[in-house]
This record gives sequence, structure tokens and C-alpha cells, in this order.
Amino acid sequence: MKRSHPSTEIYDIVGIGFGPANIALAIALEELHPDKSFRFVDSQKQIVWQNEMLFENALDVYSNIQNSPHRDLATPRNPRSRYSFLNYLHENGLFWTQLNLNMSMPLRPDFANYIAWVAENFRDHFIGGTWVTGIEPRGDHYAIKCDNGPELLARHVVLGTGRPPQIPEQFQDITNPNCIHFTKYNSSIDAMVAGNAKRIAIVGSSQTAAEIVLHLTKMHPQVEVDVIMRRFGFPLKDTTPFVSEIYFPEFTDLYFNSSEAMKRRIDRDVYGTNYGTADEDVIQEIYQQIYYDKLAGRNKLELHRLSEINNVRDKGGKIEITINDRMHTRTFDKAYDGVILATGFVNYGPHPHNQKIPNLLQPLQHLLQLERGAVSVGRKYDLALTPEAPGKILMNGLCEVTHGMGDAGSISLMSLRAAEIASKAFEPADSADPATALGDADTELHPVIA
Ligand SMILES: Cc1cc2nc3c(=O)[nH]c(=O)nc-3n(C[C@H](O)[C@H](O)[C@H](O)COP(=O)(O)OP(=O)(O)OC[C@H]3O[C@@H](n4cnc5c(N)ncnc54)[C@H](O)[C@@H]3O)c2cc1C
Repeated sequence: MKRSHPSTEIYDIVGIGFGPANIALAIALEELHPDKSFRFVDSQKQIVWQNEMLFENALDVYSNIQNSPHRDLATPRNPRSRYSFLNYLHENGLFWTQLNLNMSMPLRPDFANYIAWVAENFRDHFIGGTWVTGIEPRGDHYAIKCDNGPELLARHVVLGTGRPPQIPEQFQDITNPNCIHFTKYNSSIDAMVAGNAKRIAIVGSSQTAAEIVLHLTKMHPQVEVDVIMRRFGFPLKDTTPFVSEIYFPEFTDLYFNSSEAMKRRIDRDVYGTNYGTADEDVIQEIYQQIYYDKLAGRNKLELHRLSEINNVRDKGGKIEITINDRMHTRTFDKAYDGVILATGFVNYGPHPHNQKIPNLLQPLQHLLQLERGAVSVGRKYDLALTPEAPGKILMNGLCEVTHGMGDAGSISLMSLRAAEIASKAFEPADSADPATALGDADTELHPVIA
């Protein structure tokens, strides 16, 4: 997919990352701003949506998506878009059979193919297989530095990189390569098992943790799997309709304009729609799996519930964890050949569990107007910058702290957000939003609950 581009052209927008968020932006740019030039850069050569969690055994119940397919990368903004999920089915000869499956949430590989199909439509605007290593102000534009490929020049930059993995403090000094965040699961698990990993721990109780439990126990039945979770059991995801209104467009305004205390209140109420919880089908399947094992006299899957991880050490090629099991009031050490952290992602913001500035923007601090040490984001996703900044920098899919849980954790609002980002980028510089959705310094949003 790589194309060579003259490095002297200054694009109106360069987007870093070409996941769903920036793919939705590409659609919005083509449909709403056909006179503007743009390029996207991604480290992946071919776009595969959440490739580390895309499992081959697609027909198992746990491999369907978590949103209506009509809340795709285009339809909520433009139901007549040629980039809809429906048109993907139509153009790929899948329409009749897919509808005949009678699945309200399509299979994840199907939706991944949809995303790849849209990305492919933008192949002339996309440079793959390249890491962006830096952004430099240069005269009236930015230079985007790539590790492998040409430097790109842009009037405005959109960060659509996805969020960084959340690594719990206890694991931060572990050097064993078999201790991974789930965003490395697919590319690590076969080698881990081939390297004779006999006992693997999964940390967390989310949908991701549950899916990995099922994948690992089915694909590698010889491995003993432990799940370590703070919760009493896998909590059920809240899919009830009032709470699911966080994925409505109006919610973004409500959340952005709320006080910090109100944001905290809302987060507490809606947390279980997206984090630390799992769908009923996967929970049931895990329960049945444990029961089948019991019938067969096996004990391959063990849950450490109501359990805290006190301490972790690299020890003799293994990862030794001190588990404080509050269910049985005991603390013990257990050694694992591998650990998979299903512990979510880090948000950007000023709160203690947040990262204050995205890594790519660290060298640009002289251009950033920080608020409580963190990037300050306007309602239309533009960062507050000093007058010396040559153009706008906007964040696409990285604004959960200011814009609410519909922002980073879901595809549902991506098409609408993309249109807002595109129109904000091309607005005259002096019409900047007063960017402050951050409230009092002493309040904190929820950390990820594993
Ligand atoms: C396992 C999983 C399943 C999910 N399922 C659903 C679902 O069913 N429904 C739903 O609504 N939401 C779902 N989500 C939530 C959300 O929709 C996805 O996380 C979505 O992929 C986010 O899109 P994004 O473009 O913001 O980030 P990403 O998909 O993470 O894409 C970011 C891209 O940026 C690239 N990149 C990052 N840094 C650089 C760099 N420096 N240089 C070059 N490239 C870079 C990466 O290679 C990547 O391709 C899921 C999330 C996960 C983790």
C-alpha cells in the first residue's frame, strides 16, 4: 500500500494512525471537504482492526462486535454514504447471507473486513508500515517524521493513535517477555505456548479477559489458566437502554459541559457499559468450561476472585505473583510462565491515573497550553496551543476524560466526531473554542478497574 510522495507538498491534514477513528475522518474529508488534501500514516502495512484480538475461530459466540453495525464509520453522519457497513455487504456479495445469519451484532472478523475494505478505498491517501516518530513545527506548517518512509508536511495534524496500554504498577518493572498487555496477545501467544508455557495468568475481569480465557483454553487446552480479578465474578456488561445513551451524540455535549463532580457521577453510573465487564454469553461459556473440566476430572481453569495482586517479581525465568485472596483470607505466591494483562488503556488528562501529554506531543510542550499539566482539549477536539503554533493539532479518539465514555471506547460516534474534527481544522484560527472541560484539581475520574 505504500506510495512515494513528494516531500514538498503540504497537506491540509496529516492523520497519525489509520484505525477506525482516522478512517472515519478520511471518509468525512472526502465527503465534506473534497477540495482539501490529506494523508494518513500507520505502522500497520495493511489495516487490520484490533489485530491482536481478532481470533481465527470466528464462529464461537464470543467473536461478535459490541455495537450496532449501522453505527459504523459513516452511516450516523451520512446514511447515504458509500462507506456504510450495508454497502460493504452489498459490494462484497455478502448482503443476503449476512442478514440471514440474524445477528444483530455481526461477527468481529466481518466488521474487521468492513474496516479494511473502507481503508483500502483510501489507499492513495494512506502510507502504511511506517511509525511516526515525531512532529516538528516548521514555518507555517508541521513536519511529520516517519521511521521508514518520507517526511510529511501538514497544515494541521490529527492524532488518531489509539490509547496506550495500562500496565498496573506492580508489573511495570517486569522484564520477562512473556508478561504482555493484551494488545500483544495474537502476536505473542503461540510463541509463548511453543516455548513451553504451562501456566498462564490473565489479569482482569473484562470482556477482553473473558475472550482470552476462552481462546486460550480452547486453542491451547494443555495450558493451565488462572484468572486473577478484584471482582467477585465476571461482572455483566450493562447494555440497558438508558445507560447506553452515552453512545448518543447529545451525550458528548452533556458530558463536556458538565462539572467535574457531575462527570464523576456519570462515569460511576455508566462504567460497566464498557469497562471491567463482559457479555453474558462469554460469562456462561466460561462457567460451562469450568464445569466440563470438573466432569473430566481436570482443573485447568482457576479463578482467583476478590483477589489483589500485592507484588510481582521476575524469578528464575518465571513471573511470581503474590496474590492476596480476600475470598479465602490468604496470601500466597504463585509462579507463572506467562501473564496477560487485560487491564485496559490509559486516558489523557490531569487526573492521577491519566497520562498528561501523549508521547508524540512531549517535544512540542512549548506550543501546548497545558491545564493542570495536561493537554487542554476543546469541544471540537482541538488542543489549546500558543500563538506560535503553525496549525491545529486535534485528537481523534483520545478524549474520554473530557468528552465521556462514548469517545474512546466505541465506534458509535466516530463518524460524527470525524466531521467535527474536519470542520474545526479548517475553521479560521481566531474562532478557537475556549478549551476547558476539566474541572477542579482535587477530583479524580475512575481508574481502570481490573
Ligand atoms: C479488543 C477490542 C474490541 C473492541 N470492540 C469494539 C466493538 O465491537 N465495538 C465498538 O464500538 N468498539 C470496540 N472497541 C473500542 C474501539 O472502537 C476500538 O478500540 C477502535 O479500534 C478504536 O479506534 P482508533 O482508531 O481510535 O484506535 P486504534 O484502532 O487503536 O487504531 C490506532 C492506529 O494507530 C496506529 N498508530 C499508533 N501510533 C502510531 C504511530 N506513532 N505511528 C504510526 N501509526 C501509529 C496503530 O497501528 C493503529 O492502527 C474495541 C476495542 C478493543 C480493544
